[in-house]
Amino acid sequence: VEELEKRMRLTNQRQVLMEELRKVTTHPTASELYDMVRQRLPRIALGTVYRNLELLSECGSIKKLETGGEQKRFDGNTDPHYHIRCNTCGRVDDIHIPRLEDLDAQAADSCSYTILGHHIEFSGICADCNAVGSIRRFF
Ligand SMILES: [Zn+2]
Ligand SMILES: [Zn+2]
Repeated sequence: VEELEKRMRLTNQRQVLMEELRKVTTHPTASELYDMVRQRLPRIALGTVYRNLELLSECGSIKKLETGGEQKRFDGNTDPHYHIRCNTCGRVDDIHIPRLEDLDAQAADSCSYTILGHHIEFSGICADCNAVGSIRRFF
């Protein structure tokens, strides 16, 4: 019975993690998600969050972003889409432009690989950081 309870708790933790991640488009890090789920899972450990996020992304329920940032970020939206990362604060947002389907075909023509896909990450300065920057320049 104890084993079953333990397994059900794990399943519930993963469910809550997935639900909370799908509510936002901020691409949170593991520690940000840890803060987000603690309301509902007050006893969860940060290590458990890390482990469950890895598991969920391995089975394709969520996505681990291939961004250039130092910390891994996670996405509840598993549909292919592009991202932009702020060079100043590191936040990541979705970019709503059509996928460049032709890119895979071009790459396939130019090498001997079987192309499985591509990742594009734009970089820039977000609106918040731009505002702070212009205040700094002003003074
Ligand atoms: Zn920023
Ligand atoms: Zn995204």
